[in-house]
Amino acid sequence: MSTRVQITCSPEQSKDEAWINAQLRKQAGMGADARVKWIKRSLDARGKSPFFIISGEVFSASEPFAASEHLPLQNVTTAPEIHIIGAGPAGLFAALACISQGKKPIVLERGKEVKRRRRDLASLNKEGIVNADSNYCFGEGGAGTYSDGKLYTRSKKRGSVTTVLDTLVYYGADPVIQYEAHPHIGTNKLPGIIENIREAIIEAGGEVRFDTRVTDFICENERVTHLEYNANTREAVQSVILATGHSSRDIFEWFNHNKRYIEVKPFALGVRLEHPQEIIDQIQYKCATRGDYLPPSSYSLVEQVKGAGVFSFCMCPGGIIAPAATAPGEVVVNGWSPSKRNGAFANSGFVVSVDQKDFAPFDKYGTLQGLEFQSHWERKAFQVSGSIQAPAQRMEDFLQKKTSTNLPGNSYIPGLVSADIRTVLPPQVSDRIGGALLQISKKMPRFRTNEAILVGVESRTSSPVRIPRDAEGLHHPELLNLYPCGEGPGYAGGIMSAAMDGLKVAEALCLQDSDK
Ligand SMILES: Cc1cc2nc3c(=O)[nH]c(=O)nc-3n(C[C@H](O)[C@H](O)[C@H](O)COP(=O)(O)OP(=O)(O)OC[C@H]3O[C@@H](n4cnc5c(N)ncnc54)[C@H](O)[C@@H]3O)c2cc1C
Repeated sequence: MSTRVQITCSPEQSKDEAWINAQLRKQAGMGADARVKWIKRSLDARGKSPFFIISGEVFSASEPFAASEHLPLQNVTTAPEIHIIGAGPAGLFAALACISQGKKPIVLERGKEVKRRRRDLASLNKEGIVNADSNYCFGEGGAGTYSDGKLYTRSKKRGSVTTVLDTLVYYGADPVIQYEAHPHIGTNKLPGIIENIREAIIEAGGEVRFDTRVTDFICENERVTHLEYNANTREAVQSVILATGHSSRDIFEWFNHNKRYIEVKPFALGVRLEHPQEIIDQIQYKCATRGDYLPPSSYSLVEQVKGAGVFSFCMCPGGIIAPAATAPGEVVVNGWSPSKRNGAFANSGFVVSVDQKDFAPFDKYGTLQGLEFQSHWERKAFQVSGSIQAPAQRMEDFLQKKTSTNLPGNSYIPGLVSADIRTVLPPQVSDRIGGALLQISKKMPRFRTNEAILVGVESRTSSPVRIPRDAEGLHHPELLNLYPCGEGPGYAGGIMSAAMDGLKVAEALCLQDSDK
Protein backbone atom coordinates (compact mmCIF):
# COMPACT_ATOMS: atom_id res chain seq x y z
CA MET A 1 0.00 0.00 0.00
CA SER A 2 1.32 3.46 -0.86
CA THR A 3 1.44 6.05 1.93
CA ARG A 4 0.44 9.71 1.71
CA VAL A 5 2.63 12.14 3.65
CA GLN A 6 3.28 15.87 3.88
CA ILE A 7 6.26 18.06 4.74
CA THR A 8 6.90 21.78 5.04
CA CYS A 9 10.12 23.42 3.88
CA SER A 10 11.76 26.77 3.24
CA PRO A 11 11.74 28.34 -0.27
CA GLU A 12 15.43 27.42 -0.61
CA GLN A 13 14.85 23.77 0.38
CA SER A 14 11.92 23.61 -2.06
CA LYS A 15 14.40 23.73 -4.96
CA ASP A 16 16.15 20.54 -3.80
CA GLU A 17 14.06 17.70 -5.23
CA ALA A 18 16.32 14.90 -3.93
CA TRP A 19 16.21 16.31 -0.39
CA ILE A 20 12.39 16.61 -0.52
CA ASN A 21 11.98 13.05 -1.80
CA ALA A 22 14.22 11.82 1.01
CA GLN A 23 12.09 13.72 3.57
CA LEU A 24 8.87 12.28 2.12
CA ARG A 25 10.30 8.72 2.20
CA LYS A 26 11.46 9.25 5.79
CA GLN A 27 8.05 10.57 6.80
CA ALA A 28 6.44 7.48 5.23
CA GLY A 29 8.90 5.20 7.03
CA MET A 30 10.22 3.80 3.73
CA GLY A 31 13.72 3.13 2.44
CA ALA A 32 15.77 4.71 -0.33
CA ASP A 33 14.32 2.38 -3.00
CA ALA A 34 10.74 3.66 -2.43
CA ARG A 35 9.35 5.81 -5.25
CA VAL A 36 7.73 9.18 -4.65
CA LYS A 37 4.92 10.91 -6.53
CA TRP A 38 4.34 14.54 -5.58
CA ILE A 39 0.64 15.28 -5.13
CA LYS A 40 0.54 18.94 -4.21
CA ARG A 41 2.94 21.83 -3.75
CA SER A 42 1.59 25.07 -2.33
CA LEU A 43 3.13 28.24 -0.95
CA ASP A 44 1.90 29.71 2.33
CA ALA A 45 2.88 33.39 2.41
CA ARG A 46 0.43 34.53 5.09
CA GLY A 47 2.95 34.66 7.94
CA LYS A 48 6.27 36.49 8.34
CA SER A 49 8.33 33.93 6.43
CA PRO A 50 6.79 32.18 3.42
CA PHE A 51 7.11 28.38 3.35
CA PHE A 52 6.12 25.55 1.01
CA ILE A 53 3.83 22.62 1.87
CA ILE A 54 4.54 19.52 -0.20
CA SER A 55 2.48 16.37 -0.06
CA GLY A 56 3.38 13.16 -1.80
CA GLU A 57 2.49 9.51 -2.22
CA VAL A 58 5.29 7.07 -1.44
CA PHE A 59 5.27 3.63 -3.11
CA SER A 60 7.37 0.66 -2.02
CA ALA A 61 9.67 -0.70 -4.75
CA SER A 62 7.38 -3.70 -5.39
CA GLU A 63 4.18 -1.64 -5.83
CA PRO A 64 2.90 -0.43 -9.23
CA PHE A 65 3.54 3.31 -9.62
CA ALA A 66 0.53 5.57 -10.26
CA ALA A 67 -0.19 5.48 -14.03
CA SER A 68 -0.91 8.48 -16.26
CA GLU A 69 -4.61 8.98 -17.00
CA HIS A 70 -4.17 10.66 -20.39
CA LEU A 71 -6.78 9.82 -23.03
CA PRO A 72 -5.86 6.66 -24.96
CA LEU A 73 -6.31 7.01 -28.75
CA GLN A 74 -7.28 4.44 -31.40
CA ASN A 75 -7.45 4.48 -35.20
CA VAL A 76 -10.70 6.14 -36.30
CA THR A 77 -10.02 6.66 -40.02
CA THR A 78 -13.19 4.83 -41.07
CA ALA A 79 -15.28 5.48 -37.92
CA PRO A 80 -18.52 7.54 -37.83
CA GLU A 81 -17.82 11.29 -38.03
CA ILE A 82 -18.50 14.01 -35.49
CA HIS A 83 -18.01 17.62 -36.61
CA ILE A 84 -16.51 19.92 -33.99
CA ILE A 85 -16.61 23.68 -34.55
CA GLY A 86 -13.72 25.43 -32.81
CA ALA A 87 -10.19 24.24 -32.00
CA GLY A 88 -9.98 25.78 -28.53
CA PRO A 89 -9.47 23.70 -25.38
CA ALA A 90 -13.13 22.53 -25.49
CA GLY A 91 -12.98 21.51 -29.18
CA LEU A 92 -9.55 19.84 -28.97
CA PHE A 93 -10.36 17.84 -25.84
CA ALA A 94 -13.73 16.87 -27.36
CA ALA A 95 -11.78 15.62 -30.42
CA LEU A 96 -9.42 13.54 -28.26
CA ALA A 97 -12.39 12.12 -26.33
CA CYS A 98 -14.19 11.24 -29.60
CA ILE A 99 -11.12 9.33 -30.79
CA SER A 100 -10.80 7.57 -27.50
CA GLN A 101 -14.49 6.50 -27.84
CA GLY A 102 -14.00 5.29 -31.44
CA LYS A 103 -15.44 8.26 -33.41
CA LYS A 104 -13.74 10.32 -36.10
CA PRO A 105 -13.57 14.03 -35.19
CA ILE A 106 -13.55 16.65 -37.94
CA VAL A 107 -12.38 19.88 -36.30
CA LEU A 108 -13.34 23.09 -38.12
CA GLU A 109 -11.38 26.21 -37.14
CA ARG A 110 -11.88 29.71 -38.61
CA GLY A 111 -8.34 30.72 -37.69
CA LYS A 112 -4.87 29.54 -38.64
CA GLU A 113 -2.49 26.98 -37.16
CA VAL A 114 -0.29 28.31 -34.35
CA LYS A 115 2.75 29.26 -36.49
CA ARG A 116 0.79 31.33 -39.05
CA ARG A 117 -1.35 32.76 -36.25
CA ARG A 118 1.76 34.10 -34.51
CA ARG A 119 2.44 36.38 -37.51
CA ASP A 120 -1.04 37.90 -37.19
CA LEU A 121 -0.40 38.56 -33.51
CA ALA A 122 2.84 40.33 -34.43
CA SER A 123 0.99 42.64 -36.88
CA LEU A 124 -1.70 43.23 -34.25
CA ASN A 125 0.85 44.27 -31.64
CA LYS A 126 3.17 46.23 -33.93
CA GLU A 127 0.87 47.71 -36.59
CA GLY A 128 -2.53 47.60 -34.89
CA ILE A 129 -4.03 45.40 -37.66
CA VAL A 130 -6.85 43.16 -36.35
CA ASN A 131 -7.49 40.02 -38.44
CA ALA A 132 -11.09 39.00 -37.67
CA ASP A 133 -10.24 35.28 -38.04
CA SER A 134 -6.78 35.19 -36.48
CA ASN A 135 -6.07 37.03 -33.23
CA TYR A 136 -5.67 36.39 -29.47
CA CYS A 137 -9.10 34.68 -29.37
CA PHE A 138 -9.32 32.93 -32.76
CA GLY A 139 -6.99 30.34 -34.26
CA GLU A 140 -5.55 26.95 -33.35
CA GLY A 141 -5.85 26.32 -29.60
CA GLY A 142 -8.45 29.09 -29.30
CA ALA A 143 -8.13 31.78 -26.65
CA GLY A 144 -6.00 29.39 -24.60
CA THR A 145 -2.91 29.28 -26.88
CA TYR A 146 -1.32 32.68 -26.36
CA SER A 147 -2.59 32.93 -22.78
CA ASP A 148 -0.96 32.55 -19.41
CA GLY A 149 -2.11 28.95 -19.43
CA LYS A 150 -3.26 29.06 -15.83
CA LEU A 151 -4.92 25.73 -15.16
CA TYR A 152 -7.09 26.55 -12.17
CA THR A 153 -10.56 25.22 -11.75
CA ARG A 154 -13.02 25.20 -8.90
CA SER A 155 -14.41 21.94 -10.25
CA LYS A 156 -14.46 19.03 -7.84
CA LYS A 157 -14.52 16.44 -10.65
CA ARG A 158 -11.07 15.12 -9.81
CA GLY A 159 -11.26 12.41 -12.50
CA SER A 160 -11.59 14.92 -15.34
CA VAL A 161 -9.05 17.32 -13.79
CA THR A 162 -6.48 14.52 -13.68
CA THR A 163 -7.32 13.41 -17.23
CA VAL A 164 -6.85 16.96 -18.59
CA LEU A 165 -3.59 17.57 -16.70
CA ASP A 166 -2.16 14.14 -17.57
CA THR A 167 -3.15 14.64 -21.21
CA LEU A 168 -1.42 18.05 -21.33
CA VAL A 169 1.72 16.47 -19.83
CA TYR A 170 1.52 13.60 -22.33
CA TYR A 171 1.56 16.19 -25.16
CA GLY A 172 4.50 18.11 -23.73
CA ALA A 173 3.55 20.19 -20.66
CA ASP A 174 5.93 20.24 -17.71
CA PRO A 175 4.84 17.51 -15.20
CA VAL A 176 4.90 20.11 -12.38
CA ILE A 177 1.34 21.04 -13.46
CA GLN A 178 0.23 17.72 -11.97
CA TYR A 179 1.01 18.83 -8.41
CA GLU A 180 1.31 22.66 -8.34
CA ALA A 181 -1.54 24.19 -6.32
CA HIS A 182 -1.81 26.92 -8.97
CA PRO A 183 -0.38 25.38 -12.15
CA HIS A 184 0.32 27.37 -15.30
CA ILE A 185 2.05 26.60 -18.59
CA GLY A 186 3.02 29.94 -20.18
CA THR A 187 2.54 31.47 -23.64
CA ASN A 188 5.94 30.26 -24.88
CA LYS A 189 5.13 26.59 -24.14
CA LEU A 190 1.44 26.33 -25.09
CA PRO A 191 1.75 26.46 -28.91
CA GLY A 192 4.02 23.37 -29.02
CA ILE A 193 1.57 21.38 -26.86
CA ILE A 194 -1.35 22.41 -29.08
CA GLU A 195 0.59 21.36 -32.21
CA ASN A 196 1.30 17.95 -30.63
CA ILE A 197 -2.42 17.47 -29.88
CA ARG A 198 -3.30 18.39 -33.49
CA GLU A 199 -0.72 15.91 -34.84
CA ALA A 200 -2.13 13.16 -32.59
CA ILE A 201 -5.69 13.82 -33.83
CA ILE A 202 -4.55 13.61 -37.46
CA GLU A 203 -2.39 10.54 -36.87
CA ALA A 204 -5.37 8.72 -35.33
CA GLY A 205 -7.41 9.42 -38.50
CA GLY A 206 -9.24 12.59 -37.41
CA GLU A 207 -9.17 15.85 -39.38
CA VAL A 208 -8.30 19.42 -38.39
CA ARG A 209 -9.23 22.03 -41.00
CA PHE A 210 -8.01 25.62 -40.65
CA ASP A 211 -9.33 28.77 -42.39
CA THR A 212 -12.77 27.14 -42.14
CA ARG A 213 -15.32 29.50 -40.64
CA VAL A 214 -18.78 28.01 -40.15
CA THR A 215 -21.17 30.59 -41.59
CA ASP A 216 -24.50 28.77 -41.61
CA PHE A 217 -26.30 25.76 -40.14
CA ILE A 218 -28.76 24.20 -42.58
CA CYS A 219 -31.51 22.61 -40.53
CA GLU A 220 -34.41 20.29 -41.24
CA ASN A 221 -36.98 19.85 -38.50
CA GLU A 222 -34.97 19.35 -35.31
CA ARG A 223 -31.61 18.53 -36.88
CA VAL A 224 -28.64 20.28 -38.45
CA THR A 225 -28.20 18.48 -41.77
CA HIS A 226 -25.37 20.54 -43.31
CA LEU A 227 -22.79 23.11 -42.28
CA GLU A 228 -21.82 25.98 -44.55
CA TYR A 229 -18.13 27.04 -44.59
CA ASN A 230 -16.82 30.48 -45.53
CA ALA A 231 -20.21 31.30 -47.11
CA ASN A 232 -19.37 29.12 -50.11
CA THR A 233 -19.17 25.38 -49.32
CA ARG A 234 -21.61 22.93 -47.72
CA GLU A 235 -21.02 19.59 -46.06
CA ALA A 236 -23.50 17.04 -44.70
CA VAL A 237 -23.14 16.29 -40.98
CA GLN A 238 -24.41 13.72 -38.48
CA SER A 239 -23.71 15.46 -35.18
CA VAL A 240 -22.05 18.77 -34.34
CA ILE A 241 -20.21 19.96 -31.23
CA LEU A 242 -20.36 23.76 -31.06
CA ALA A 243 -17.23 24.95 -29.21
CA THR A 244 -16.75 28.42 -30.68
CA GLY A 245 -15.78 30.40 -27.55
CA HIS A 246 -17.10 33.60 -25.98
CA SER A 247 -16.10 35.89 -28.87
CA SER A 248 -17.89 34.13 -31.74
CA ARG A 249 -20.44 36.89 -32.17
CA ASP A 250 -21.51 35.69 -35.63
CA ILE A 251 -22.61 32.38 -34.09
CA PHE A 252 -24.74 34.15 -31.46
CA GLU A 253 -26.16 36.33 -34.25
CA TRP A 254 -27.05 33.22 -36.27
CA PHE A 255 -29.10 31.84 -33.36
CA ASN A 256 -30.80 35.20 -32.83
CA HIS A 257 -31.50 35.77 -36.53
CA ASN A 258 -32.85 32.25 -37.02
CA LYS A 259 -34.96 32.45 -33.86
CA ARG A 260 -33.22 29.46 -32.26
CA TYR A 261 -33.36 29.48 -28.50
CA ILE A 262 -30.62 31.42 -26.64
CA GLU A 263 -30.61 33.40 -23.38
CA VAL A 264 -29.07 36.63 -22.04
CA LYS A 265 -26.16 35.80 -19.72
CA PRO A 266 -24.44 37.94 -17.04
CA PHE A 267 -20.68 38.43 -17.38
CA ALA A 268 -18.14 40.90 -15.96
CA LEU A 269 -16.72 44.18 -17.25
CA GLY A 270 -13.87 46.38 -16.07
CA VAL A 271 -10.20 47.10 -16.62
CA ARG A 272 -6.79 45.44 -16.52
CA LEU A 273 -4.79 46.63 -13.53
CA GLU A 274 -1.03 46.69 -13.84
CA HIS A 275 1.53 47.19 -11.06
CA PRO A 276 5.29 46.80 -11.10
CA GLN A 277 5.77 43.13 -10.08
CA GLU A 278 8.12 44.31 -7.34
CA ILE A 279 5.28 46.07 -5.51
CA ILE A 280 3.10 42.94 -5.52
CA ASP A 281 6.06 40.87 -4.25
CA GLN A 282 6.67 43.39 -1.46
CA ILE A 283 3.00 43.27 -0.41
CA GLN A 284 2.66 39.49 -0.55
CA TYR A 285 6.08 38.47 0.78
CA LYS A 286 6.47 41.37 3.22
CA CYS A 287 10.06 41.93 2.13
CA ALA A 288 12.06 44.44 0.08
CA THR A 289 12.97 41.99 -2.70
CA ARG A 290 11.65 38.55 -3.59
CA GLY A 291 15.05 36.85 -3.77
CA ASP A 292 15.98 33.78 -5.81
CA TYR A 293 13.74 31.13 -4.28
CA LEU A 294 10.24 32.58 -4.36
CA PRO A 295 8.05 32.76 -7.48
CA PRO A 296 6.74 36.13 -8.77
CA SER A 297 3.76 36.58 -6.49
CA SER A 298 0.11 36.83 -7.39
CA TYR A 299 -3.10 37.99 -5.73
CA SER A 300 -6.79 37.18 -5.79
CA LEU A 301 -9.14 39.96 -4.65
CA VAL A 302 -12.89 40.05 -4.10
CA GLU A 303 -14.92 42.97 -2.74
CA GLN A 304 -18.62 43.73 -2.53
CA VAL A 305 -19.50 47.30 -3.50
CA LYS A 306 -23.09 48.56 -3.57
CA GLY A 307 -24.46 45.04 -3.87
CA ALA A 308 -22.23 43.85 -6.75
CA GLY A 309 -19.11 41.71 -6.78
CA VAL A 310 -15.86 43.36 -7.86
CA PHE A 311 -13.03 40.88 -8.33
CA SER A 312 -9.61 40.29 -9.80
CA PHE A 313 -9.54 37.79 -12.64
CA CYS A 314 -6.87 36.02 -14.69
CA MET A 315 -3.95 37.45 -12.70
CA CYS A 316 -0.67 37.27 -14.62
CA PRO A 317 2.48 37.69 -12.49
CA GLY A 318 5.42 38.87 -14.62
CA GLY A 319 2.94 39.23 -17.47
CA ILE A 320 1.97 41.27 -20.49
CA ILE A 321 -1.29 43.05 -21.24
CA ALA A 322 -2.51 41.83 -24.65
CA PRO A 323 -4.79 43.39 -27.28
CA ALA A 324 -7.63 40.84 -27.44
CA ALA A 325 -9.98 42.54 -29.96
CA THR A 326 -11.54 40.26 -32.60
CA ALA A 327 -12.66 42.98 -35.03
CA PRO A 328 -11.36 46.38 -36.17
CA GLY A 329 -12.78 49.39 -34.32
CA GLU A 330 -12.75 47.93 -30.79
CA VAL A 331 -10.29 47.89 -27.89
CA VAL A 332 -10.29 44.82 -25.64
CA VAL A 333 -7.51 43.92 -23.21
CA ASN A 334 -6.52 40.64 -21.59
CA GLY A 335 -3.30 39.25 -20.12
CA TRP A 336 -0.69 36.52 -20.52
CA SER A 337 2.68 35.57 -19.13
CA PRO A 338 5.60 33.40 -20.18
CA SER A 339 6.34 30.17 -18.30
CA LYS A 340 8.98 31.85 -16.11
CA ARG A 341 6.73 34.81 -15.36
CA ASN A 342 9.84 36.93 -15.39
CA GLY A 343 8.41 40.20 -16.75
CA ALA A 344 8.65 43.46 -14.82
CA PHE A 345 4.88 43.90 -14.38
CA ALA A 346 1.94 42.13 -12.73
CA ASN A 347 -1.49 42.47 -14.32
CA SER A 348 -4.99 41.23 -13.60
CA GLY A 349 -8.49 41.77 -14.88
CA PHE A 350 -10.32 43.89 -12.28
CA VAL A 351 -13.98 43.56 -13.09
CA VAL A 352 -17.54 44.03 -11.92
CA SER A 353 -20.38 41.55 -12.47
CA VAL A 354 -22.93 42.95 -14.93
CA ASP A 355 -26.37 41.59 -15.79
CA GLN A 356 -29.67 42.49 -17.40
CA LYS A 357 -30.13 45.56 -15.18
CA ASP A 358 -26.93 46.99 -16.67
CA PHE A 359 -27.93 45.94 -20.20
CA ALA A 360 -31.24 47.86 -19.98
CA PRO A 361 -30.20 50.61 -22.47
CA PHE A 362 -29.68 47.81 -25.02
CA ASP A 363 -33.00 46.11 -24.32
CA LYS A 364 -34.13 46.46 -27.92
CA TYR A 365 -31.52 43.89 -28.96
CA GLY A 366 -33.42 41.15 -27.09
CA THR A 367 -31.22 38.16 -26.25
CA LEU A 368 -28.18 39.94 -27.74
CA GLN A 369 -28.46 42.89 -25.30
CA GLY A 370 -25.44 41.74 -23.25
CA LEU A 371 -23.39 41.34 -26.43
CA GLU A 372 -24.40 44.84 -27.64
CA PHE A 373 -23.57 46.32 -24.22
CA GLN A 374 -20.14 44.62 -24.34
CA SER A 375 -19.50 45.75 -27.90
CA HIS A 376 -20.62 49.34 -27.12
CA TRP A 377 -17.94 49.79 -24.43
CA GLU A 378 -15.24 48.16 -26.59
CA ARG A 379 -16.05 50.59 -29.43
CA LYS A 380 -16.13 53.47 -26.96
CA ALA A 381 -12.59 52.58 -25.83
CA PHE A 382 -11.48 52.61 -29.48
CA GLN A 383 -13.11 56.02 -30.06
CA VAL A 384 -11.33 57.46 -27.03
CA SER A 385 -7.89 56.20 -28.05
CA GLY A 386 -8.44 56.40 -31.84
CA SER A 387 -6.66 53.07 -32.46
CA ILE A 388 -5.91 49.78 -30.71
CA GLN A 389 -3.74 51.75 -28.33
CA ALA A 390 -5.64 51.39 -25.06
CA PRO A 391 -7.02 54.14 -22.81
CA ALA A 392 -5.22 54.16 -19.46
CA GLN A 393 -5.06 56.12 -16.22
CA ARG A 394 -2.80 55.99 -13.20
CA MET A 395 -4.58 54.48 -10.18
CA GLU A 396 -4.28 57.45 -7.81
CA ASP A 397 -5.36 59.82 -10.60
CA PHE A 398 -8.39 57.60 -11.27
CA LEU A 399 -9.34 57.69 -7.58
CA GLN A 400 -8.89 61.48 -7.50
CA LYS A 401 -10.75 61.88 -10.83
CA LYS A 402 -7.74 63.54 -12.53
CA THR A 403 -6.54 62.67 -16.04
CA SER A 404 -2.93 61.46 -15.84
CA THR A 405 -0.43 63.92 -17.27
CA ASN A 406 1.84 61.00 -18.18
CA LEU A 407 1.79 57.21 -17.89
CA PRO A 408 4.42 54.95 -16.33
CA GLY A 409 6.34 52.23 -18.17
CA ASN A 410 4.02 49.33 -18.93
CA SER A 411 3.75 46.03 -20.78
CA TYR A 412 1.10 46.85 -23.42
CA ILE A 413 3.02 46.66 -26.71
CA PRO A 414 0.61 48.65 -28.99
CA GLY A 415 0.91 51.61 -26.58
CA LEU A 416 -1.38 53.45 -24.16
CA VAL A 417 -3.23 56.75 -24.40
CA SER A 418 -3.88 58.79 -21.25
CA ALA A 419 -7.65 59.06 -20.75
CA ASP A 420 -10.31 59.28 -18.06
CA ILE A 421 -11.14 55.59 -17.62
CA ARG A 422 -14.62 56.59 -16.42
CA THR A 423 -15.45 57.57 -20.02
CA VAL A 424 -14.94 54.00 -21.29
CA LEU A 425 -17.03 52.25 -18.63
CA PRO A 426 -20.63 52.56 -17.47
CA PRO A 427 -20.75 54.75 -14.32
CA GLN A 428 -22.00 51.89 -12.12
CA VAL A 429 -18.93 49.87 -13.13
CA SER A 430 -16.31 52.62 -12.71
CA ASP A 431 -17.82 53.70 -9.36
CA ARG A 432 -17.64 50.16 -8.05
CA ILE A 433 -14.07 49.73 -9.28
CA GLY A 434 -13.17 52.95 -7.42
CA GLY A 435 -15.02 51.76 -4.29
CA ALA A 436 -13.28 48.37 -4.38
CA LEU A 437 -9.82 49.93 -4.80
CA LEU A 438 -10.46 52.11 -1.71
CA GLN A 439 -11.59 49.06 0.30
CA ILE A 440 -8.54 47.05 -0.82
CA SER A 441 -6.12 49.88 -0.05
CA LYS A 442 -7.35 49.92 3.56
CA LYS A 443 -6.21 46.30 3.87
CA MET A 444 -3.18 46.58 1.55
CA PRO A 445 -2.07 50.24 1.57
CA ARG A 446 0.83 49.62 -0.85
CA PHE A 447 -1.64 48.37 -3.52
CA ARG A 448 -2.86 51.97 -3.96
CA THR A 449 -0.13 53.65 -5.95
CA ASN A 450 0.24 55.98 -8.89
CA GLU A 451 2.79 53.51 -10.29
CA ALA A 452 -0.21 51.26 -11.06
CA ILE A 453 -2.45 51.80 -14.09
CA LEU A 454 -6.00 50.94 -15.10
CA VAL A 455 -6.23 49.95 -18.76
CA GLY A 456 -9.57 49.68 -20.56
CA VAL A 457 -11.53 47.64 -21.36
CA GLU A 458 -11.54 44.11 -19.96
CA SER A 459 -14.79 42.87 -21.44
CA ARG A 460 -14.29 39.28 -22.71
CA THR A 461 -14.46 37.71 -19.27
CA SER A 462 -17.09 35.15 -20.23
CA SER A 463 -19.87 34.79 -22.76
CA PRO A 464 -22.67 37.42 -22.84
CA VAL A 465 -25.07 34.77 -24.22
CA ARG A 466 -26.06 31.28 -23.09
CA ILE A 467 -26.84 28.64 -25.68
CA PRO A 468 -28.94 26.23 -23.62
CA ARG A 469 -28.61 22.47 -23.69
CA ASP A 470 -30.60 19.53 -22.41
CA ALA A 471 -29.44 18.61 -18.89
CA GLU A 472 -28.97 14.94 -19.74
CA GLY A 473 -28.45 14.66 -23.50
CA LEU A 474 -26.38 17.90 -23.59
CA HIS A 475 -27.85 18.81 -27.01
CA HIS A 476 -29.57 22.09 -27.84
CA PRO A 477 -33.29 21.89 -26.86
CA GLU A 478 -34.44 22.57 -30.44
CA LEU A 479 -31.57 21.16 -32.51
CA LEU A 480 -31.13 17.64 -31.25
CA ASN A 481 -27.80 16.83 -32.95
CA LEU A 482 -26.11 20.13 -31.99
CA TYR A 483 -24.09 20.05 -28.74
CA PRO A 484 -23.15 23.45 -27.23
CA CYS A 485 -19.78 23.07 -25.47
CA GLY A 486 -17.17 25.08 -23.57
CA GLU A 487 -17.07 28.76 -22.74
CA GLY A 488 -19.00 30.20 -25.71
CA PRO A 489 -22.40 28.74 -24.84
CA GLY A 490 -21.73 29.40 -21.13
CA TYR A 491 -20.58 26.01 -19.77
CA ALA A 492 -17.01 26.86 -18.84
CA GLY A 493 -14.82 29.74 -17.71
CA GLY A 494 -11.16 29.07 -18.44
CA ILE A 495 -8.93 26.48 -20.07
CA MET A 496 -9.47 23.66 -17.57
CA SER A 497 -13.24 23.88 -17.38
CA ALA A 498 -13.50 24.26 -21.18
CA ALA A 499 -11.34 21.17 -21.71
CA MET A 500 -13.37 19.25 -19.12
CA ASP A 501 -16.61 20.28 -20.80
CA GLY A 502 -15.16 19.08 -24.12
CA LEU A 503 -14.61 15.64 -22.53
CA LYS A 504 -18.08 15.63 -21.00
CA VAL A 505 -19.94 16.60 -24.18
CA ALA A 506 -18.01 14.20 -26.43
CA GLU A 507 -18.54 11.34 -24.01
CA ALA A 508 -22.29 12.07 -23.75
CA LEU A 509 -22.61 12.27 -27.54
CA CYS A 510 -20.62 9.08 -28.17
CA LEU A 511 -22.66 7.24 -25.53
CA GLN A 512 -25.94 8.27 -27.20
CA ASP A 513 -24.60 7.22 -30.61
CA SER A 514 -23.61 3.80 -29.30
CA ASP A 515 -27.11 3.36 -27.76
CA LYS A 516 -28.77 3.80 -31.18
C1 LIG B 1 -5.03 36.54 -23.67
C2 LIG B 1 -5.86 35.51 -22.92
C3 LIG B 1 -5.34 34.93 -21.76
C4 LIG B 1 -6.07 33.97 -21.06
N1 LIG B 1 -5.50 33.35 -19.98
C5 LIG B 1 -6.12 32.31 -19.40
C6 LIG B 1 -5.49 31.56 -18.38
O1 LIG B 1 -4.35 31.82 -18.00
N2 LIG B 1 -6.18 30.53 -17.82
C7 LIG B 1 -7.44 30.20 -18.21
O2 LIG B 1 -8.02 29.26 -17.66
N3 LIG B 1 -8.07 30.89 -19.18
C8 LIG B 1 -7.42 31.92 -19.79
N4 LIG B 1 -8.04 32.60 -20.81
C9 LIG B 1 -9.40 32.18 -21.18
C10 LIG B 1 -9.35 30.84 -21.92
O3 LIG B 1 -8.45 30.94 -22.97
C11 LIG B 1 -10.74 30.45 -22.39
O4 LIG B 1 -11.55 30.33 -21.24
C12 LIG B 1 -10.73 29.11 -23.12
O5 LIG B 1 -9.83 29.14 -24.20
C13 LIG B 1 -12.14 28.78 -23.62
O6 LIG B 1 -12.08 27.60 -24.37
P1 LIG B 1 -13.14 27.23 -25.51
O7 LIG B 1 -12.57 26.06 -26.21
O8 LIG B 1 -14.48 27.12 -24.90
O9 LIG B 1 -13.19 28.48 -26.48
P2 LIG B 1 -12.00 29.27 -27.31
O10 LIG B 1 -10.71 28.95 -26.66
O11 LIG B 1 -12.48 30.63 -27.35
O12 LIG B 1 -12.02 28.55 -28.69
C14 LIG B 1 -13.04 28.74 -29.63
C15 LIG B 1 -12.48 28.49 -31.02
O13 LIG B 1 -13.56 28.51 -31.94
C16 LIG B 1 -13.15 29.15 -33.13
N5 LIG B 1 -14.34 29.67 -33.82
C17 LIG B 1 -15.16 30.68 -33.42
N6 LIG B 1 -16.16 30.86 -34.30
C18 LIG B 1 -15.98 29.94 -35.28
C19 LIG B 1 -16.68 29.63 -36.49
N7 LIG B 1 -17.78 30.29 -36.84
N8 LIG B 1 -16.20 28.64 -37.29
C20 LIG B 1 -15.05 27.95 -36.94
N9 LIG B 1 -14.35 28.23 -35.81
C21 LIG B 1 -14.81 29.19 -34.99
C22 LIG B 1 -12.23 30.25 -32.65
O14 LIG B 1 -11.36 30.67 -33.68
C23 LIG B 1 -11.51 29.57 -31.49
O15 LIG B 1 -10.31 28.98 -31.90
C24 LIG B 1 -7.35 33.58 -21.53
C25 LIG B 1 -7.88 34.17 -22.69
C26 LIG B 1 -7.15 35.12 -23.38
C27 LIG B 1 -7.71 35.74 -24.63
